[in-house]
Order: sequence, then C-alpha cells, then structure tokens
Amino acid sequence: MEALVRLWQEAQDSIKTSLGQSAFETWILPLKAQSKDAHTLCLEAPDEFFRDWVDKHYRESIQQSLNAVSDKGVTVTLEAGRPAPEKPRVAAPQPAHAKTQDTFNLNPRYTFENFVVGPSNRHAHAYAIAVADSPAKTYNPLFIYGATGLGKTHLIQAICHHIKHKDGGCPKICYLPVEKFTNELIDAIQHHSTAAFRQKFRNLDVLVVDDVHFLGGRESTQEEFFNTFNTLYDAHKQIILCSDRPPKEIEKLQERLVSRFGWGLTTDIQPPDFETRVAILKKKVEREPVNVPDEVIMFIAQLIKTNIRELEGALIRTIAYSLLEEKQVTLELAHEVLKDLLKEPKKLITVDFIQRCAAEEFSITLAELKTKRRTKTVVLPRQVAMYLSRELTDLSLPEIGQYFGGKDHTTVLHSYNKIKELLNKDLLLKEKVDRVIQIIKQ
Ligand code: ADP
Ligand code: MG
Repeated sequence: MEALVRLWQEAQDSIKTSLGQSAFETWILPLKAQSKDAHTLCLEAPDEFFRDWVDKHYRESIQQSLNAVSDKGVTVTLEAGRPAPEKPRVAAPQPAHAKTQDTFNLNPRYTFENFVVGPSNRHAHAYAIAVADSPAKTYNPLFIYGATGLGKTHLIQAICHHIKHKDGGCPKICYLPVEKFTNELIDAIQHHSTAAFRQKFRNLDVLVVDDVHFLGGRESTQEEFFNTFNTLYDAHKQIILCSDRPPKEIEKLQERLVSRFGWGLTTDIQPPDFETRVAILKKKVEREPVNVPDEVIMFIAQLIKTNIRELEGALIRTIAYSLLEEKQVTLELAHEVLKDLLKEPKKLITVDFIQRCAAEEFSITLAELKTKRRTKTVVLPRQVAMYLSRELTDLSLPEIGQYFGGKDHTTVLHSYNKIKELLNKDLLLKEKVDRVIQIIKQ
C-alpha cells in the first residue's frame, strides 16, 4: 500500500508543472496522502472548505498526473480532516486616522515629476493626471494597457502619490498587483476571514490594481474582484487598472468583467520614439553621480527601442561599470559593456519549425506527425518533436500539447521522459535527434 503513497510523490512533479509553483504550494502540498487499499489513494485536506476547493479546481489534474505515473488505475478520494484550532489573533494596532491603506509599498521614484511625456504616452499621462486631480469624477475605471516595461506601473503609482499628497480629505487608497489580491483572497479563505478581506477592499476610496491580465483563468478571484468592483463603482469610488493587453484580449476573463473594464476610459501606452527615449535617459542621468556624454545617451537610445526598463538597465550597467573601473563614461566603454546587446538577436525557435524538421528527418509528412494515429512510425517522431519542443523553447507542457492536437501536459511529459531515456540507450536515435537539433539551430 505504501507504493501508492510513493506514486503520489512522483505524480506531484507533473502536478507542480501544470499548476505552477504557488498554486501547488497552497493547495497540493498540504494534502496528506494515505492509501486506503491497493488502488485507492486518500488525500486528506485540512478542512472541508479546502477539500471542496481542491475537488472543484484540481481533482482532474491530480487524477491525470496519477494516471500518467501508473497504469494500474488509481482512484483518488478527497477527505477533510479536522481544522486546527485557530490561534487567537491579536489585531495590529491601527493608527487613529489611517490616511491610506497601502497593502503594497509604492516606489517613491514613480511620480509624475519623474515621468517623461512623449507622443507614445501622452494620452495615458493626460488621463492619469485628470483622474489624480479629481478621483471618481472623470474616468471610472481608468484602464491603461501596454507592453511590459513601458511605464504602466510608474504611471498608476504616480496617481497614488498625487492623491496621497493632495490637500484635504483622507482618501483610502490601495495599490496592489492582482497577484497580491489573489494571495490575500486565498489567505482569507484559508483563515476563514473573507469578511475582513471584503471589508478592506470594499471600503476604499481609490483601488489601483496592477497587471490585471493575471486575472485570466482565475475564476474565484474574478468572482471576488467582480463584487469588489461593483461595490466600489456603485459607491462612486475610483478604480484604476492596468494590463499588458486590452480587456477583450485577456484570455479567460469573464465577459461581465471585460465589459465593466470598458465602462470608463481605456487608453494605451506605446513604445517610446527616439526623442522620448533620449529624454528618459537624460532624466535618469540627472540623478546619477557621473557625467554621461550625449553621444553615449544617443547610442543607448538607438540600441534599445521597445522596453524602457531595459533602456534604463543599459544605462545603469554602463554607469556601474565606469564607477567600478574608475573610468569616464565614453562611447567606447558603453560599447564594451553593452556588447551582448549589439549581437544578432537569438533565433526564435517555433514548435512548428521543430515539427517540420522532425517529420523530415523521420521521412513522414507534417500532417502524419500531427495526427492522433498511434502506429510506431509516427509515434516516435511525434514524441521526438515534443521532446525537442520542451528542450528548445520556453513553452510550458500544456502549451506544447496544444501544438500536437491538444494533447494534455501529462502526455507531453511522458513523451519527453521516454525520449530522454531512449537517447541514453539508442545511438541511432541519438544521431537522428542531434541532426534535427543541428538543422533547427542553423
Ligand atoms: P510596466 O509596468 O509597463 O511594465 P514600469 O512602469 O515598471 O513598466 O516601467 C519600467 C521602468 O521604466 C521604470 O523604472 C519606470 O520608472 C521607467 N519608465 C517608464 N516610462 C517612463 C517615462 N515615461 N519616464 C520615465 N521613466 C519611465
Ligand atoms: Mg508593471
């Protein structure tokens, strides 16, 4: 019977891959495994709520992962243990007139003063100022979207700083990334303190939520967020959101949230043009202890075009190097420090390309490689292609599965492990696979 518990250990690896580290640690690790009989694995959750949650959200993944590591047909039962007696909680003393409710520290540097305005962000900036000047009176919600590193977080935190330091009133502001909202919700559920959680978020004057694209696919968070949104909106409180894409393009976001996010004003931030990049670098140099000549600033602004975080990073690296080496910042020094950025960009390897190369090497057609047929001549090349997709791309197992006719992650993992093992024994296969890799990387 111990064998089942061992199987559970093995299955956890693939559960972790499919759920991600944080969900795994929250919901799977606390489960206690016991074998009831030779075929039944009992997983004990800390309490009933926990059991129901795992049952609803994770049972399928658990079952699939167990099926993948065992062909004996293991049945899973979920049970609830007794909740540990709750420790008496001592409430933290609250300042008499708490002015703000930050649950996440604001970056003191992310102010309007430090934000350089150019054609790429002019609109977003203007709306942000309008909202900061009169919260809940102009655009509600304000939704800002744009690719990573373009200043969304900077801009929405600037609104928070501005409101906090305005005269009069004591607005209750809360800025937090959606991740933190989810974690606080999970924590509240686990500690049976959802009422306090709701109280906290539904009593705010201004709620600012960063990176809302991470709401996609998180049903319970969306449910809670929907209710928070409605309460605040109905009470004429300001809501500010940002995301790396417009609401409609956030996958697995409930329609009712998509539509609410569009109730106010949606605006985007684009990559900065050359002049704005130069201005941003100059602004940053003002605060640095060294002299950076214009030609170096121009060089960096020409080199990095699409991400302001990377633009700043290149400048910081150059300055740090000059301080370390006790050398002046010169064009030559910048070239030396940033030489890795001057190289050709790395070739992007796609699953499609891997599939084509593998099919060719094994003399089958691409269509055959992608079919569900299980004949040996097509199964091996298909498994090789899955193996290579995992080795040569950054895609997750479920994503790779999508390219192979919607196979689930356990099938991909199984193929990967199988080929990896075969490569140690089968020299002919190894030669073939090496040849495919060479072609792909050419
Ligand atoms: P995002 O949230 O869009 O990924 P951030 O707000 O974190 O981007 O910005 C990345 C970095 O670039 C930050 O250090 C920020 O201060 C800086 N930055 C972005 N836009 C500007 C701007 N217009 N002026 C000055 N600094 C900027
Ligand atoms: Mg951000």
